[in-house]
Amino acid sequence: MSKINLLGCEISKLEQMMIERGQKKFRATQLYTWIYEKETLSFDDMSDISLRFREELNRDFTLSLPKIYKKQESKDGTIKLLLELEDGAKVETALMPYRYGNAICVSSQVGCNMACAFCASGLLKKQRNLETHEIVGQVYVMNQLLKEKGERVSHVVVMGTGEPFDNYENVLDFIRIINHPKAFAIGARHITVSTCGLVPGIMRYAHEGMQTNLAISLHAPNDEIRNTLMPISKAYPLDKLMEAVKYYEKEADRRVTFEYIMLKDVNDTIECARQLVKLIRGTKAYVNLIPYNPVDENSFRRSDEENVHRFFSYLMQHGITTTVRKEFGNDIDAACGQLRAKEQHESH
Ligand code: SF4
Repeated sequence: MSKINLLGCEISKLEQMMIERGQKKFRATQLYTWIYEKETLSFDDMSDISLRFREELNRDFTLSLPKIYKKQESKDGTIKLLLELEDGAKVETALMPYRYGNAICVSSQVGCNMACAFCASGLLKKQRNLETHEIVGQVYVMNQLLKEKGERVSHVVVMGTGEPFDNYENVLDFIRIINHPKAFAIGARHITVSTCGLVPGIMRYAHEGMQTNLAISLHAPNDEIRNTLMPISKAYPLDKLMEAVKYYEKEADRRVTFEYIMLKDVNDTIECARQLVKLIRGTKAYVNLIPYNPVDENSFRRSDEENVHRFFSYLMQHGITTTVRKEFGNDIDAACGQLRAKEQHESH
């Protein structure tokens, strides 16, 4: 039987496992303290646990992390890692140093089946879901790197490779672990899950009682454009998506953010801005405009700065809170999925 990686154990499940082994429930919190607060990855060093139980832990459990396969560091402090998992699969994770803290962008799957036309990650089909410990491991490894500078990960976005709601349970357990006060204690308001618009996932997430942020990759103001960019739109067209957003806003009592990648001559005209205002009127949503990072594999180009500004101003003038995403890592492979895609090309 293969060993269970404790980095993927959500606290209530860990408590249950301890009880089943004849241990007290508090063992779970004790283990969390060692693993996350004291950053110990060896059961042998857990000195307040009996030798006998440490032997049992060594026999049945592991605390292994993904390995750093490649590391890129930008002049602006952005760190991009290609991590190798136990089965040899590789995933990307990135750290962006904002003024307010260090935000990590984690992957939730190996590859992605959503096939968004502008995305380097979607070029490589989904191989499998990431296990919870493999998502937690991305934050753990980044924290180890930041420790040298006396810093820590303070914000998490599940926006790397993969569709989080296509790996729902593992992503939820990941959120519960990083949010736990004895683990990374990352505040719910500092955690964002980003979906390409899986309507059943949004409806389900509305009932999790999470104070986290939900971002929806919208990228188009109508089905016609969205169908060309995001195949998911055929399964869940915009009227269904907007219904789900309103449902989420009501049930979860949280606002969503619409992500909108600005693609030159595709979705960046004032007519698109006008349609967008009409589409999202009636929601409390924010819009985040994203300057596009072109990749070699497609012909999309980034919108001119002037167009982004005009689009932004139009939304603001029509009462929609809008931001333009700050850019990071322009001197490294900045686009999501680029590092892994390159690696695959090079190794074939
Ligand atoms: S943008 Fe996200 S959902 Fe779409 S293909 Fe890329 S990783 Fe998948």
